[in-house]
Amino acid sequence: MSSSSNNYQNIQPSIGKIEQLKTKEAALSRLLTAVRLEKLEALRSRPLTIGIIGFGRFGQFIAKTFAEHGTVVATSRSDYTDLARGMGVEYIPLSNPDEFFSRDLDVVVLATSIVSFEGTVRNLLPALARSIEDNETRRGPLIVDVLSVKDYPRQILLDLLPKECDILCTHPMFGPDSGKNGWHGLNFVYERTRIDAVVLDQAMESKKHVLHSSIDKDGDAESFVEEGSGKIHSVHEHSEAHIEGMDRIERFLSIWEEEGCRMVSLSCRDHDIYAANSQFITHLMGRILGAQGLEPTPIDTKGFDSVLRVIDSTSADSFDLFYGLYKYNQNSLDTITKLRDSMDDVVKQLSMMELDDKNKVDWVEATKELNATITQAIIKEEEEKKECEGVLP
Ligand code: NAP
Repeated sequence: MSSSSNNYQNIQPSIGKIEQLKTKEAALSRLLTAVRLEKLEALRSRPLTIGIIGFGRFGQFIAKTFAEHGTVVATSRSDYTDLARGMGVEYIPLSNPDEFFSRDLDVVVLATSIVSFEGTVRNLLPALARSIEDNETRRGPLIVDVLSVKDYPRQILLDLLPKECDILCTHPMFGPDSGKNGWHGLNFVYERTRIDAVVLDQAMESKKHVLHSSIDKDGDAESFVEEGSGKIHSVHEHSEAHIEGMDRIERFLSIWEEEGCRMVSLSCRDHDIYAANSQFITHLMGRILGAQGLEPTPIDTKGFDSVLRVIDSTSADSFDLFYGLYKYNQNSLDTITKLRDSMDDVVKQLSMMELDDKNKVDWVEATKELNATITQAIIKEEEEKKECEGVLP
């Protein structure tokens, strides 16, 4: 048998195998589409009622999209009644929190400035407590924050909110500018912080969603470790409250998923470390460059275009937001220090090179001068010699 027919026989089984795999792939893809449709149907059959506290630039931005997925009620310090009506959103002034919480809210999204966050939460606590008392299930709404720093609101929510409220800490890594053409492919960071009174372990959240072994107020363990896998489970896992809490979180997260966001499960602590060296440094550079009064020129490079875009996008956000990124992320000061050091290093490198250049020039000049002096001395010596020998007249 020739070697070419041998090769043919070797290739044949792999062709059959690829066809089989392709058929399998197509079947899985059909199954995935069917599951997605079923999920969408389940979500649409029970749309969420979402309350938004803080109807500023970002609150309005998310409200527009939320309104396509459910019912939205907003509240804020300023009067946004007309603006909200135009978006199909009910507006209730912040001065009437009982009215706001009376709307049977599944989820409450806190979208106030970072600096006013704690005060706003504290002011709302009595009305929230009354609404839980009035609710026959005695369960509170899921509380979600969207602040651009994460450890700070996490701690405040854990410290202040009644245990009847589950907590989800999130940071959509985009805003009215970067998300103006839709949310597809944009990062959405979240940490499931507390479900049915059990606090998730932050350190584990980035790796796997397991529940922290916590102790309830009577000193009983609220979680247990699964033998073998080492997985930690909540004792509430099969309770109705736990299942409902998880379901509500998943339904809320699904809005972002359905809009095409890239979902990133990350602990609040890790978020702050990453954000100081990505988001905060971008805002810092934008503000510094903006302060130089840079303007487009007739000979702009692509690089300079990007610089102007960074200035535009960062200065469109409020200074409160920038200040919040600095003050309430403990890693931000370190970013400023490193930036200063790097600036000093780069300037030092430039000065050293300039000094080097100057030394080189001085050395060349000195050599030239020396050569000229030597040449002159030789000529003089030659002339004197000739004079002595009487060669010259
Ligand atoms: P912001 O300046 O950070 O916050 C403005 C909001 O805070 C408005 O709703 C404002 O209410 C409210 N507020 C300010 N001071 C207040 C006070 N003393 N008491 C009660 N409410 C007060 O700008 P933003 O861009 O809208 O951001 C809102 C939140 O979303 C921030 O936590 C920010 O970190 C987060 N976020 C923003 C972006 C973004 O791209 N902009 C992206 C992701 C997350 P009034 O308008 O009623 O005065």
